[in-house]
Amino acid sequence: MYFIFEIEFKSQKSYIKNLIQSYIEQIGIEAEVIQSSKKIYITIDKDNSQIESFLLGLEAVLPASIFMGQSKHYFIDDKPNVTDIEDYNLPLNISMCPNCQKEMFDISSNRYYYPFTSCNSCGGQLPFVQKYPFNRKNSSFKFLNPCPSCQEELKNNPFRKDYQLISCLECGVNLKMNDGKSERYANDKGSYRKLFEVASKAISKDKTILVKTLNGYRKFFAPKVGDNLDKAILLFCDSSSLNSKLMLIPQEFNTLLSIERPILRISTKSDDLKELFGSSAYVKYPDDGITILLAKELLTLGIKYVCYEEVEADENADFLIDFDLPIEPQKDTKLFINQDKTLFVSGERIVYPVVADNPKKVLTIANGLVASIVDDTTIIDAMERFESVDVREVRVLENEPIETGHRRERRFKLREASMLSVLKEHNLIGQKAVGVHFDSNLYFLYYNGAKVVDVIKPIEFNNSNLWEEIAKLRDGSDRLVKNYKNKFPKTYDELENLNGEIDIFIIASKIIGLSSVGIDAISKEALNFYGKGGIAIDTRIKDERFDNYAFLASIISYKLADVEPAMLCYSIYESFGDYIGEIIPQMSKSLETRNIILSGASFANQALYARVEKNIGIYKPLTNINLPIGKENAVFGALYL
Ligand SMILES: [Zn+2]
Ligand SMILES: [Zn+2]
Repeated sequence: MYFIFEIEFKSQKSYIKNLIQSYIEQIGIEAEVIQSSKKIYITIDKDNSQIESFLLGLEAVLPASIFMGQSKHYFIDDKPNVTDIEDYNLPLNISMCPNCQKEMFDISSNRYYYPFTSCNSCGGQLPFVQKYPFNRKNSSFKFLNPCPSCQEELKNNPFRKDYQLISCLECGVNLKMNDGKSERYANDKGSYRKLFEVASKAISKDKTILVKTLNGYRKFFAPKVGDNLDKAILLFCDSSSLNSKLMLIPQEFNTLLSIERPILRISTKSDDLKELFGSSAYVKYPDDGITILLAKELLTLGIKYVCYEEVEADENADFLIDFDLPIEPQKDTKLFINQDKTLFVSGERIVYPVVADNPKKVLTIANGLVASIVDDTTIIDAMERFESVDVREVRVLENEPIETGHRRERRFKLREASMLSVLKEHNLIGQKAVGVHFDSNLYFLYYNGAKVVDVIKPIEFNNSNLWEEIAKLRDGSDRLVKNYKNKFPKTYDELENLNGEIDIFIIASKIIGLSSVGIDAISKEALNFYGKGGIAIDTRIKDERFDNYAFLASIISYKLADVEPAMLCYSIYESFGDYIGEIIPQMSKSLETRNIILSGASFANQALYARVEKNIGIYKPLTNINLPIGKENAVFGALYL
């Protein structure tokens, strides 16, 4: 008889399993841990007297994770018959595990206030890695030698056994802070703590601080009413005020605090946040060591939240905190939660690097990411971390600014690769499917089991004669244009002078009068709508295609009727949901497949997603599982072109 502790885990990443393995070694219990494609199993002999204490301790060792689901335990006669997934030893870029965090706040530890504290199963490892395979020699840590105490840990601490990026205050990376006049160094317990103390005081006095974090340069500041916070991320210094300041469902709360620490768009609740951000904000809980320590010191000053912007190294600020080691940060990742569904929307962190199937042994390049072969394994990561490799074909995203010079270079479209990435994640390569790809344009696609083709393309939209086109739409349309010109002369002129190919959502957002433009602005404004249902916006289909001018004319007439922007934006998304809901069943019927694929970052919108669910929910549309629904999935999908 065996005691089994089973944890749902929907990722191939092995850091949770590895933490459990290290903990098993640390307490010396006879136990086995295995990870299948969906679950982690811990097996212990049922008579083992340590079971209870093991479980208690496990709770303290394991962080929350976005991949973790329910857990349960039971007794069973035979060990679970599952094969362990392969661990490819890829560097991580997540937050810190509970053990490492404890060390960082323990004054007796040699990592007290040391922001680069990490172990085999946590921390920002990837930014230091310069090439594969992952080892110290191939990282910017190569010039730092582990001190005797770290050497000892490499042998005897199960959590840092052979850990390639081991370091501590004694042998690690020094921080420095510059206020334009003088420089302050942090290289021991006292000076590290002092540096973060000084930095947080500066923020409390309305100074800005530019910080080199493991996730890129961030400019921290205390937000004030009237600041333009369009690009700001709201960083909470502790979890106790999350529920009083934000409208959170438990799943969002757990996701924010998970070891992966993604960015979430969340509705604001308290008056102070509503005044600063409006109805919603991008929210984050401190991720890397530097951000965690800064947040900790801000909290001791009574500051519950601050803002930061992702910026370049040369950004202006009152103070600069940095360190000498070069890093290659990843784009941070945004998540979208709609009821029981969690989607990666965009970004690289948490998602990449991954290992991918590469049946045709090709190399793919898209959006700065590369799928390349290292020792027979295909790894997807940033281009900078790969050396040149000899392959028979290179596949590059159209418009990717790169010359490969390869004799067989094939260019592909984002939408075909995106659709294939979803098909591959659901094991549907080779089967028929219809797809909807929605980024700044909306495409309907068909996959015949071999190739993705456009079924309905958006009508090319040329803005050079916008007003004439709208005026001749139908009887009375010329009056509509005239009325708009009288009421909003400034926008009228502005739109008349916009030439060339311009995204229809930029035009729509200008007509509505939003302060920022484009589909993101419309998506954000839609969240301000609290009513039950929107109004019908004309998407009058012309040869099955979306009629851009009818769509814009409809928005203009509602604008003239003083319909509030939030309702208009919400209705735009609803109308797209209805349009998709109309086309998909037709396509599914005529092309004889019930595999419906959705891709593109524009689906990460509550109004649209709910409408699509309502209209085509019975078809169970499929989306990416472990990859973003946005453009970062293309490098993976292109492997299966
Ligand atoms: Zn750790
Ligand atoms: Zn050390």
